[in-house]
Order: sequence, then C-alpha cells, then structure tokens
Amino acid sequence: MILVKRNVDAEAIYKEVAALMVERRQCVALTGAGVSAESGIPTFRSKGGLWEKYDPIEFASIEAFRKDPSKYWSLRGEFIKDYDRYQPNKAHLALAELEKRGIVRCVITQNIDGLHKKAGSKNVIEIHGNLMEICCLTCGKEYKAPNIPEEMPPHCSCGGILKPNTVLFGEELPADVFMKAKEASAGCKIMLLVGTSAIVQPAASLPYLAKQNGAKIIEINIENAFPDADYFIMEKAGTALPNVVGEIDKIRRVNLI
Ligand code: NAD
Ligand code: ZN
Repeated sequence: MILVKRNVDAEAIYKEVAALMVERRQCVALTGAGVSAESGIPTFRSKGGLWEKYDPIEFASIEAFRKDPSKYWSLRGEFIKDYDRYQPNKAHLALAELEKRGIVRCVITQNIDGLHKKAGSKNVIEIHGNLMEICCLTCGKEYKAPNIPEEMPPHCSCGGILKPNTVLFGEELPADVFMKAKEASAGCKIMLLVGTSAIVQPAASLPYLAKQNGAKIIEINIENAFPDADYFIMEKAGTALPNVVGEIDKIRRVNLI
C-alpha cells in the first residue's frame, strides 16, 4: 500500500494514479460537496456560506420539514435562486470525460445540485436525490422545478404538501438507489473519493465496502478526510481531476503508437 500523505512529488503521484486507472479501469467516483465548491456552491464548512447561517441538521431534517415546511422551502429558495449560475466546473467535466474514455463506470454523488448530469456524466447515482425534483408527500405525484405552485409551502393539486425529492437528515435513503450504489462500490476496482468529508452515513460506508472487496481508494481533497485511502492527492478537485485525465491521455497516446 502506498499512502501518499502530501504532494511531495505531485507529478509522480498523478502518473502512478493514472497508470493504475488505465490498468484496472472499473473505477467508481464517490463525490461530495467539495466537488461543487469551485462552482460556487458552499460546502457545509465553507466560510461565509449558507451553512454558517443555518444549521443543516436543524433545517434540513425531516422533523423540521414536517414542523414548518415553509421554512425549509424558503431555504431551498435561497439555495436555488441563482441556480442557473451554478455551472459544472472542471472537476465535474473531467469525471464526465473519464466516463467517455471507459474508465469511470459511474459517479455516486451525495450532492443534490445535479451538476454531474449537467456536465455530461451519464451514469450518475444521486443517493441524496435532486433538489429540482419535487414530489407530493400525499399522492407521490412528481413535479419538475420551476413548474411548481408558487404558494408557500407549495401544495399538490390533491392538497398534499410538496417536498423536494432530496433525502433529509432523519430520512432513509431510497433502498433501490442505495442498493445500486452498494453494488457499484462492491464491484469496482478503484474508488475515486472526491471532495467528501466521508462522515455522513450511510454514504461513508461505501469506500470501506469498496476496499473490503479489493478496490484501491484514491482520495482527492484539500484535507485528508479518509485516512485509509491508498493514494491521497491534496489538491482542489478542479485542478487534480483534469491532471489525472491529462496523464491518462498521455498513457493512451503512448500505447496507440
Ligand atoms: P462536507 O461539506 O461535509 O465536506 C466537503 C469536503 O470537500 C471536505 O472534506 C473539504 O475538505 C472538501 N473540499 C472543499 N473544497 C474542495 C475542493 N475544491 N476540492 C476538493 N475537495 C474540497 O460534504 P459531504 O462530504 O458531501 O457531506 C455533506 C452532506 O451535505 C452531503 O450529504 C451532501 O449531499 C450535502 N451537501 C450538498 C451540497 C451540494 O449539493 N452541492 C452542498 C453542501 C452540502
Ligand atoms: Zn398529491
């Protein structure tokens, strides 16, 4: 096991990681809020971000939603008011490129911002749902934002309260979606762990599942959040992932000659 704590020799680690990905393929990426940070969306810990004003556990819990759905909807409003401004960054685009090159099989994301799909990744498992998908808590009817009633909180035509189709604290993840994520993790040969503090369960169990089944873990983060990673690239995702793609392309070019 090579545990690279720091980018002592950054070039060497990119080369090594790229070679491993070309050799093993069957790579699954598990991403968190850090992958969208460079798109301007605050992570839980960003300074001056939304979550400095609001305690996520208090606001984004199913208990709080049931008590006061309007409060939750107004927070969602604040999050998505500039939604079109949030565009995929170089990290999302690099992961989509790696899928096109047949190296990344799927992206499992904890993010609810939909930016992986917007970047062109096809096989995306959004284990915490998507903020733009809305459903009725009473009849299950689905609405797609922005075509939702404007009242606060919005109601379905049946009278039921509408809720974004995201997993709130205290809610179970949809069993079928999480099963897919578990299967992908258990079956991969490499897990790219990108921009996640890897503490929110049950998502945090996925890298361990991958490792138990023989996968190598490559962590890309500005802090070492997963001490059991085989490789750690201490770098912003929007810099590191394009570097990995660049190194992979160099290997592919050499092999073609
Ligand atoms: P987290 O906020 O707990 O951790 C973010 C991680 O990203 C940290 O380890 C941090 O060091 C790292 N990071 C920050 N900027 C980075 C960058 N430029 N490049 C690489 N790494 C960077 O996020 P989490 O682990 O995803 O868990 C928080 C929960 O909050 C998840 O359930 C997630 O769904 C939700 N959330 C989602 C969004 C979103 O949809 N964009 C935003 C905030 C929180
Ligand atoms: Zn309804």
